[in-house]
Amino acid sequence: MTKHYDLIAIGAGSGGISVAERAAEYGAKCAVIESGKMGGTCVNVGCVPKKIMWNAATMAHALENAVDYGFDVKVKGFSWQRLIAARENYISGINQWYDGYLSDRKIDVVKGKASFVDAKTLTVDGRQFTADHIVIAPGSTPVKGDIPGAGFGGTSDDFFGLKALPGNVAIVGSGYIAVELAGVLNALGAEVTLLVRSNSVLTHFDALLRDTLMKELLSSGINVLTNTTIEEIEKTSENSLHLRCNNSQFYEGFDCLLWAIGRKPNTDGLNLRALGIELDSLGAIVTDDYQNTNVKNVYALGDVTLRAPLTPVAIAAGRRLADRLFNQQTERHLDYSNIATVIFSHPPAGTVGLSEEAARKQFSNEVKVYQTTFTPMVYAFTRHQPQTAMKLVTLGKEEKIIGCHIIGDGADEMLQGYAVAIKMGATKADFDNTVAIHPTSAEELVTMR
Ligand code: NDP
Repeated sequence: MTKHYDLIAIGAGSGGISVAERAAEYGAKCAVIESGKMGGTCVNVGCVPKKIMWNAATMAHALENAVDYGFDVKVKGFSWQRLIAARENYISGINQWYDGYLSDRKIDVVKGKASFVDAKTLTVDGRQFTADHIVIAPGSTPVKGDIPGAGFGGTSDDFFGLKALPGNVAIVGSGYIAVELAGVLNALGAEVTLLVRSNSVLTHFDALLRDTLMKELLSSGINVLTNTTIEEIEKTSENSLHLRCNNSQFYEGFDCLLWAIGRKPNTDGLNLRALGIELDSLGAIVTDDYQNTNVKNVYALGDVTLRAPLTPVAIAAGRRLADRLFNQQTERHLDYSNIATVIFSHPPAGTVGLSEEAARKQFSNEVKVYQTTFTPMVYAFTRHQPQTAMKLVTLGKEEKIIGCHIIGDGADEMLQGYAVAIKMGATKADFDNTVAIHPTSAEELVTMR
């Protein structure tokens, strides 16, 4: 028998759960279809376990610095297994919590893989479901390079499955995941080599962030190989990976290689072609400002659209879509501009708005920039002194702030508040009129000249 819903979300990750829970609040009968674990990438192989690993790495750095603050600390060891067991226990608690949370809200969970029959009908392993509205939110999957031996490497998904701390790791890529994993593995004791195909990491971010992070990666002991492309990976009988790279360079002796070169939308098996859903050249589902696909009453959100593929974006888009469909908020949709984001590198880097480069391209000489680089007080007398750097990009005579970029301890927590001000249209004068909180790093943002 076919079961009918007001709304079905394909994917019980951040996007699918958010749209269903908000729709259910308005009285809609909803279901989520999920073939994997509840919570999707963020909970299981993304933000949540990553932040736990980042916390562990941050503690490792704090232990090193404690000596310079007079503590007689000797680290006798670190148990990867203990950390991973605690992390997985925490995550399985979240997985279970979801079951209760959704059933309390009368949202059905259908386990299995969904496939479209038509715009209102889905099959899941032989069972059929219909809905007035179907939201495609199945997320994305990390990809590997397309070279001989690529399969000897893993991805961030495999990183979260590592049973032991690798000794000598090669990480390929230059974006969020590459620098985050490099920082964690380095702090926890692995030898880390980062292979970057261009001349820097974080090439899509403001130059201040990438230059500061490059220096920090190097000074923390990470071997960063720029302008380096792997052409072949070989595995020797001793389970050691050899990398043949461009310029006839060879690098060897790795016991682990991780690809961190982007993610692809999870559209396989959904039968989207039969439905005529428009995909872009990267295989992402094309949506308008309202998350509508080109097929009526079929929507897409989150990583499957590759539009700012970040958890809070999927959540915000999902909630707004439900507001629009079930609460008569007919114009409600997500404004994708000025979305703040943090890279959990060591130190963390956060950004909102335009980079200086993008701003100058768009507005040329109407742009004025304020920036500062300093050693935060916490590192005033430690041996290792990670720098903090900040930049405000302003526009026009009124100096409206159109970009804010921060790298350094606390950047992750600092940026959210500044993102509110910038979203509200704050100017440099508004920042200057705000009395500083002393002594903090954040105060530099309201005292820059
Ligand atoms: P990113 O898009 O951040 O970075 C991947 C980078 O790898 C590319 O920009 C490119 O940089 C480089 N690259 C691409 N192909 C190759 C290749 N064949 N060989 C070598 N380098 C290559 O992807 P990630 O996988 O790091 O993360 C995916 C997405 O997940 C992110 O964009 C982000 O939206 C999200 N995410 C968010 C996090 C957060 O909020 N903290 C954490 C982790 C992920 P270049 O062109 O410079 O060479």
